This record gives sequence, C-alpha cells and structure tokens, in this order.
Amino acid sequence: MTINERYRGVLEYFAQAMPNPDTELVYRNPFEILVAVILSAQCTDARVNQVTPALFAAYPTAEAMAAATSDEILRYVKSVSYPNSKARHLQAMAVKLVDEFGGKVPDTMEQLTSLPGVGRKTANVILGVVHGKATIAVDTHVFRVANRMGLAHGKTPLEVEKTLTRHIPTELRYKAHHWLLLHGRYTCKALRPDCVNCRLTEFCQRYKKTT
Ligand code: SF4
Repeated sequence: MTINERYRGVLEYFAQAMPNPDTELVYRNPFEILVAVILSAQCTDARVNQVTPALFAAYPTAEAMAAATSDEILRYVKSVSYPNSKARHLQAMAVKLVDEFGGKVPDTMEQLTSLPGVGRKTANVILGVVHGKATIAVDTHVFRVANRMGLAHGKTPLEVEKTLTRHIPTELRYKAHHWLLLHGRYTCKALRPDCVNCRLTEFCQRYKKTT
C-alpha cells in the first residue's frame, strides 16, 4: 500500500464515521477555549470540564482573570494536573492578553506562543477552533496514532505535524486533528490499543507488523 492510499483510506473512513468531529472541551467564546486548552495539557477533557464552569463564572473575561492572583485562580483548578503552574500561567496569560492584545485571543502562531502556558500544540488548536485556520495540532494522541498507523513517522510532534500537513488536504486538516485525537483517546489507546474493534486495521502499519 502506498502512503497516498493509506491516507485516502483513513480519511475516507473518518469522513464517514465522524463527519463533524469537534473538541470535547466545553466553552462559549475564544477566551474560554484558550483557558480550557491550557488546562487540558496532560489532563483529561472531562476533568477540565468539571472545573471550568465555576472558573469562567468567577473570571468571565481576560480582564477579570488578569485582576486575580494565581492563588485565587488555583482554588478553581486544584483538581486538574499541575494546578500550581497552570494557575500561574493562566494569570500571566490573562495579563498579557489584556496588556498586549486588548483582551482578545490573537490569531497568529507567533503571538499565541508568546502567551504564558501556550505552546505550539495549544496555539494550533486555537488557530483551528477560534480562527478557522487549517492547522493540525499534534497532541499525545495524534502523535501516537500517526506513528502507529504509518501516516507520519516522527520523533517530535513538529515532525509529525509537518508530515500530516503535507499529506492532508487543507479543508480536512482541522477535522483530521480531531479524528486522530478521538481515535487515539477511545480506540488506539496508549497502553492497550483496541485493534479488535478498530475499523482501520487494513490501513494500519502497526497492525500489519504485529499480526
Ligand atoms: S489497528 Fe490497532 S494500532 Fe492500528 S490504529 Fe487501530 S487500534 Fe491503533
């Protein structure tokens, strides 16, 4: 099977199985999704969704969050992973949003990654979700699934992102991020991939090697 055939098969399957994938994080505006994505690093979306309603009620805008201390923010995010550093990042991120971007979520990679707590993956999610740009954010699930299936071999998320971007048409990139992420979260899990119930075995390099 050629690499192009693999991509075609995988993308056709996902387009049928999950025509409208979306983030599982709950949010109402760009500021909220930025906060939620920062909180979701090495944490589950379900856990983040448990803490954000109270957090957003207390700090509905960048201005409100910037006026809080990180200790005050910490009270709301205690149950997510790395709460102390995330609370500090949120406070500093909000201050920078207010001081340099008028409280609005910026729309370039460079500006987004200048915000505390925002790395390339988070920036790519925001560029896609908020600004509709054709990005592929590579998180731990996307990285694992792309490597296992043989869609993109790479030692770093950036290598995988570049290969995926080269092969996936612009209009499908945003969806492809969610497809690979959700497939990794629910089927191609880190410790025990559920190959028995996976519908992508015929396109999967790892499956071919291990069976
Ligand atoms: S066949 Fe197994 S390893 Fe391959 S994508 Fe499916 S779950 Fe993952």
